Amino acid sequence: MGGLRAELWRFGYGSRSGDKWAGRGGPALPILIPYPRFDIGDWRGWRKWGRITAVLKTRHEISALDAPEKFREALARWFGTNGKDYPWRRTRVPYEVLISEVMLQQTQIATVLGKGYYTRFLAVFPDVETLAVAEDAPLLKAWEGLGYYRRARMLRETARAVVAEYGGEFPTGLEDLMRLPGIGRYTAGALRAFAFGLPAVVVDGNVSRVLSRLMDCAEPIDDGVGIKRVWGWAADLADAERPSVYHAALMELGQSVCRPGVPDCLACPVSGFCKASAPELLPIKRGKVSITTVDEHALWLRDGAGRLLMHHESGKRRTGLWKLPIREFTEVQHLPLLTEQRYAITRYRVTLRVYDGNAAESACQLTTGDAWVEPDEVSVLAMAAPFRRVVEEWLSDF
Ligand code: SF4
Repeated sequence: MGGLRAELWRFGYGSRSGDKWAGRGGPALPILIPYPRFDIGDWRGWRKWGRITAVLKTRHEISALDAPEKFREALARWFGTNGKDYPWRRTRVPYEVLISEVMLQQTQIATVLGKGYYTRFLAVFPDVETLAVAEDAPLLKAWEGLGYYRRARMLRETARAVVAEYGGEFPTGLEDLMRLPGIGRYTAGALRAFAFGLPAVVVDGNVSRVLSRLMDCAEPIDDGVGIKRVWGWAADLADAERPSVYHAALMELGQSVCRPGVPDCLACPVSGFCKASAPELLPIKRGKVSITTVDEHALWLRDGAGRLLMHHESGKRRTGLWKLPIREFTEVQHLPLLTEQRYAITRYRVTLRVYDGNAAESACQLTTGDAWVEPDEVSVLAMAAPFRRVVEEWLSDF
């Protein structure tokens, strides 16, 4: 089985636009693959595709666990020419690495980069000391748009502990790092690898997927046994000599090549080490989280002086943030609908409906936390993204 020989293991009707092997519109047609020999493998699920998708993959030759040095070398070589230049890859400052890691935990790279969140946050809070003494309002404002605001407050807790317990210098030991508030096994490993260049094990969602495919793992990777198994493989393969390059490369492989759904195995630098015969079906997870749909009804109301009625949150989820006042549907159903926004948060799919309170003749009852805000003050308040979009659109129109 030579390395040049390719194996056709999936041949179906695909609907993903941009697939290298996909037909463009019209009825599906078979593809002739210009390889001298190929095997047709597992056919399960081929009908789920609307256009032709064929994934070619070099045959598995050796397990990464049996040749870890070669595996790391192949990965590092690929990363040398394909690695992306992110701002957090240019720094070794632990504080800056920490900010990027926490931002990227629940937010896409494109969002963090494209909207300048990372550089803007560092401009406001350039070091651990500044963050440790940050007030709530500027902290939430600097985090605005990233969602999951608890992360910002937890970062401040971490900064306070680093200042109080270590004089502003991050510890380097795994145990010491994991004792800091908000720092778990993943973040501690990332700090060791990316900031200190020390041996580490770093497993995020991308790495879990890559490893489950490399090992052709047919068991769930998100239960206790599966998590332990994946971290075990990660530890066995980790490069102690070049931890920063190795971990960045493995993560990037998961983001750009061994991506969710159908991976680009032909472009994969480690396909010879990969045992997966149906990688698009991996990883196996224990069942999906059930999605709950929620309707939110908000009031758009301005007084005679042009001030906007806003609400300062004090509940658990978005404490300290501002939003439009939320009302029961029965209180606003008689009002004209102004606009709708849809957004997702954890397992919730929310439809935010905003009603024109100025269309009503009766006075509106204010509730605790409601406040009239001058239009030019609205922009400096920290506000969750869906409300910000409504306010920006409609404030200029009224
Ligand atoms: S590691 Fe991922 S991209 Fe590479 S060959 Fe295996 S399944 Fe394909």
